[in-house]
Amino acid sequence: MDCEIMKNKVFKEFREKLLELWHLNSALAVLSWDQEVNMPENGADLRAKTIASLAGLLHGKFVSKEFSTVINKVKKFSDNGELNKKETAIFREVWREFSREEKLSSEFVEELAELCSKSQSVWSEARKKSNFKIFQPYLEKIVELKRKEAKFVGYEKSPYDALIDTYEPGMTSEELSVIFYELKIFLVDILQKIKKSKKKIDARKLKGNFPIEKQEKLNKFIAEKMGFNFESGRMDISTHPFTTNFHPDDVRITTRYDEKNLFYSVLSTIHETGHALYEQGIEMKNFGTPLGESISLGIHESQSRIWEKNIGQSQEFWKCFYPDLKKNFPDVFRKLKLVELYEVINEVKPSSIRTEADELTYNLHIILRFEIEKELIEGSIEVADLPKIWNSKMKEYLGIKILKDSQGILQDVHWSGGSIGYFPTYTLGNLYAAQLYAKIKKDIPDLKKEIENGNFENILAWLRKNIHTHGKLYTADELIRKITGETLSSKYFMDYINNKYGKIYEL
Ligand code: MG
Repeated sequence: MDCEIMKNKVFKEFREKLLELWHLNSALAVLSWDQEVNMPENGADLRAKTIASLAGLLHGKFVSKEFSTVINKVKKFSDNGELNKKETAIFREVWREFSREEKLSSEFVEELAELCSKSQSVWSEARKKSNFKIFQPYLEKIVELKRKEAKFVGYEKSPYDALIDTYEPGMTSEELSVIFYELKIFLVDILQKIKKSKKKIDARKLKGNFPIEKQEKLNKFIAEKMGFNFESGRMDISTHPFTTNFHPDDVRITTRYDEKNLFYSVLSTIHETGHALYEQGIEMKNFGTPLGESISLGIHESQSRIWEKNIGQSQEFWKCFYPDLKKNFPDVFRKLKLVELYEVINEVKPSSIRTEADELTYNLHIILRFEIEKELIEGSIEVADLPKIWNSKMKEYLGIKILKDSQGILQDVHWSGGSIGYFPTYTLGNLYAAQLYAKIKKDIPDLKKEIENGNFENILAWLRKNIHTHGKLYTADELIRKITGETLSSKYFMDYINNKYGKIYEL
């Protein structure tokens, strides 16, 4: 048979197998979404088992002899340089994951999945009671399994690298250490300057009563204006806002509400909509292959951050929506000037809670978690010491005294779900966002005017063309180089922060 025909035949079989795995993956995502949005409390135990057995099934299919035979056939074509650009990317990504998963036994995967699903409800109870001791034995077990996972998977320098790799392929803790160290010094320094500034922002100006139905209507209006397609998506409520996708035609976002705080839900909706636009922008024809998947969590977060921070916390954005604010909440916005709103939503104020942090101190929360995770996985600190280490770093970096575990070590869900190595991608997202947004500003000269007029079509088209439609065709590093001409640099973020906060706080 002609070689090209042979290759096409093998590749077709490969794609069919991948699609099967993807359907299972989608089913798992539905279960997790349901767990966060709809499931009654008592459903937790059995749901954990359902998720675990499905995760085990998925893993088993992925590393099965059947799949292994097909992927190894594709590998031969790859070794001979016979794959085209797209096929090369598909193979590269599946092979990377396959080689990783192959090193983990089905028993191990199921054990981890069940432990993590169970731990999430234990963590939730511990947080409610603000008692780390309740969660500690579970976290100890998770860390133990994660150390094992790193050992199974293998690594060059740090076992933590093996975990980062699932969220941000190609990134290492060594590279992160360099970037984050430089950033930490910058942030601590500018935070001191802001604290000393005579300029004070009065956040009370934005206090009021914001009926939830009206907030919900505004959120939907803004999301739609940004380009979110409600015929291929939904918006619901959950304790922690998140975005999940089953495929590009079914993308779900969640938010949460506080009657006293309008921007608590609005900014988080803009953030999640940014994530969702990425998922809705992926091409349906690529569904079931890595070309139908986002590149990395860092790149994903850059999409949410561009919308939430660079656009959603700008003056021009709220100039556009000011009439809607006035119409819906006249008591507050009749008296409040646009510039005052801009300052209040950008107030820099160290706080104990990461998700409530401003865009400047937010990164110190992440750097703290990165440092802790790295040492925890490398074995130089132990779980029992975490509250003490956490609290002392909070004091050192942010000047905050932690009084309760629920306000400190227990605040985030990530570790209970086994997500260790995930946190750094939040700050990476901010850095990518700043670097990309600098380029967007160059490419769209009338950007400010367009935002003021509520015209987001060009921005979305830019993101679609440069990022969303490619799926995993490029690695994160290749993509950022291709778009901006250089590798990831924290310079753009620092410039952005200096510029914006220099003006707000008259530094
Ligand atoms: Mg996010």
